[in-house]
Amino acid sequence: MKIGFIGLGIMGKPMAKNLIKAGHELVVFDHHQENLDNVTTAGAKAAVSAAEAAAQVPLVITMLPNSPHVKTAVLGEKGILEGAKPGTILIDMSSIAPLASQELEKACAAKGVKMIDAPVSGGEPKAIDGTLAIMAGGDLKVFEEVKPVLLAMGSTAVYCGAIGAGNTTKLANQIVVGLNIAAVAEAFTLVKKAGVDPQLVFEAIRGGLAGSTVLNAKAPMMIESNFKPGFRIDLHIKDLANALDTAHGVGSPLPLTALIREMMETLHADGFGQDDHSALARYYAKVSGTKIGK
Ligand code: NAD
Repeated sequence: MKIGFIGLGIMGKPMAKNLIKAGHELVVFDHHQENLDNVTTAGAKAAVSAAEAAAQVPLVITMLPNSPHVKTAVLGEKGILEGAKPGTILIDMSSIAPLASQELEKACAAKGVKMIDAPVSGGEPKAIDGTLAIMAGGDLKVFEEVKPVLLAMGSTAVYCGAIGAGNTTKLANQIVVGLNIAAVAEAFTLVKKAGVDPQLVFEAIRGGLAGSTVLNAKAPMMIESNFKPGFRIDLHIKDLANALDTAHGVGSPLPLTALIREMMETLHADGFGQDDHSALARYYAKVSGTKIGK
């Protein structure tokens, strides 16, 4: 199938390449020339704008940072809706505010474009392996139609409900992940400060109830003081801000999320916004005077 792909960053690059590997023909666009070149070298055709990419394909995928970026790429000048023909399907795989997904879907529907939201979890390693967890919202028939395309990028694609439900699910995911990383950083700072080797603690507890995908992925990074992203603190702040806005809109207080968000804001203010979210360990190093790693 001919597919347009807009947004070739940490996640978009490997996702687009997996679609090429699955036999799809890709027309791609990104503002960043180096990212564009990276994917055209793998066999995609470059477009000069999102509109030009959308004009050539029946299905467009977006993988952009946040709601304003998706709004620009879809509704803006030389955006997707300028080029897309009626009947085109848009899958927005970015993590954005559920309300923004709903607004975008309305604007798309007015032009005869069918939109679903389908954010992902799993980070760069799973984007490379094609084993992302995909959570989708929108028209069930459209979801069923594009599911084989989604499964070229992920190992699961779960339909979560009406438009925006994919992003509401993603907010839940980001709360669980953020709080878990903070728990790991807090616990491992304690053991280091109390004179116990964090590596031995990791080996001792990973098989018990405290074991988790977050522990396995992030404890080694904290132990090595390796905060190369991965998933950036600034993107996680964006997700928690979207979670808090959404929660306040429906009257569901998020006290722990608010706390983790402020911890991440501290890291951002200290110049660590581009670090991996495992850099929450830096927050604990600041308040305890003890680093988990060497
Ligand atoms: P990124 O910043 O690495 O990439 C974003 C890309 O979008 C960049 O190449 C940028 O040039 C491009 N871009 C921005 N505005 C554009 C526009 N109007 N038109 C064309 N291109 C534009 O971000 P990422 O890490 O790939 O994340 C993308 C989305 O996926 C975010 O919503 C993020 O929260 C989500 N996500 C990321 C991860 C991760 O581990 N990195 C994991 C799961 C979900």
